[in-house]
Amino acid sequence: MRLSRRIETLEASGEDGWTIHYRAREMRAAGRDVISLCVGDHDFAPDPVILDAMHAAARAGQVKYGPVAGMDTLRDLVADRHGATREEVAITSGGQAALFAAICAAIDPGDRVGVIDPFYATYPSTIRAAGGVVVPIPVRSRNGFAPTAQDLAPIRGLKALLVNTPNNPTGAVYGRETLDMIAGYCLENDVILISDEVYASQVWAGAHLAPRNVHGLKQRTITLGSFSKSHAMTGFRIGWVLAPARVIALLRHLANATTYGTPEFIQAGALAALGADDGAQVAAIYRARRDLALRILDEGGMRVIPPQGGMYVMCDIRPTGQSGIAFAERLLTDKGIAVMPGESFGQAAAGHIRIALTQPLDRLETALAALVEFSKEFA
Ligand code: PLP
Repeated sequence: MRLSRRIETLEASGEDGWTIHYRAREMRAAGRDVISLCVGDHDFAPDPVILDAMHAAARAGQVKYGPVAGMDTLRDLVADRHGATREEVAITSGGQAALFAAICAAIDPGDRVGVIDPFYATYPSTIRAAGGVVVPIPVRSRNGFAPTAQDLAPIRGLKALLVNTPNNPTGAVYGRETLDMIAGYCLENDVILISDEVYASQVWAGAHLAPRNVHGLKQRTITLGSFSKSHAMTGFRIGWVLAPARVIALLRHLANATTYGTPEFIQAGALAALGADDGAQVAAIYRARRDLALRILDEGGMRVIPPQGGMYVMCDIRPTGQSGIAFAERLLTDKGIAVMPGESFGQAAAGHIRIALTQPLDRLETALAALVEFSKEFA
């Protein structure tokens, strides 16, 4: 069987960046006590009102095909939160499906898609799955990992630019000046902006500014969001796309060809989630963890990039002389603590590690204290 070049080259290196996570899982299955600060998945359950609503909906018979673009009630609620209309919203199977849909809407095979590097680990394969060419745009920690005009100036020939604020892995939250600069770039170069805002409810410094609200961007921005991070609903696989009505109408054809819609009982859970809050409960948990982590890492002399948002903390471990990969591998083998190497998020994050704040405070404290001690072994 000769498979497609597309599927065989989705992961250019043949490696998907999650190796440490898979190893940690194997070690745990073999009986070792591993503390995982690796993937962005919560260690706690969603609010019971979400589970109750989902259960009630399923029992009431919402287990059939539903409207492909999502239930009107949920589309309306998401639209309302973003000053949009139902026709500008489609419900998707998670932020990941929303991202794929957004890229499919924006590009043709062979088109170039700029990604701010460091980037979320699935971006390159998602772009390639849609036939696009990945153009990494490195940004610097001294600029808080936000792109500058100088970073974008040499980048030419893009069809789309993919940005993520608050950012995974860096925790950067783009301010007004950054967004104005991005808007200028997109307008001047006729670039479609794809804005990944799955961490919008988790902002620790400043405020979340949605790029689509920047002057001139609404008609060329495709925004994606998710209930995964805001309401601890990762396994529900539910998110949304927000875009001009013409884009949403066309995305229905893509959904026909892929998921054929999102289960209605899952959407009922999402309705209950948004009815309860906009993600404040979950955000409060991560804010406390972020504060604890910054204190321990700071006191331990680690070089930390304080996150302005999101569920992660980035540490620059170059003073240890190790690559992010070597550091993460040894930390797992020697101490049973799993973190992501920066290299999983592009070249600009090399020599860093990303710590996911996905453990209760006491376990997080134990793990971070051990991580600090481990780093000192390289002094
Ligand atoms: N975008 C970013 C930046 C993420 O970190 C994630 C998940 O970690 C996603 C999108 C996809 O999230 P989901 O498909 O669970 O909504």
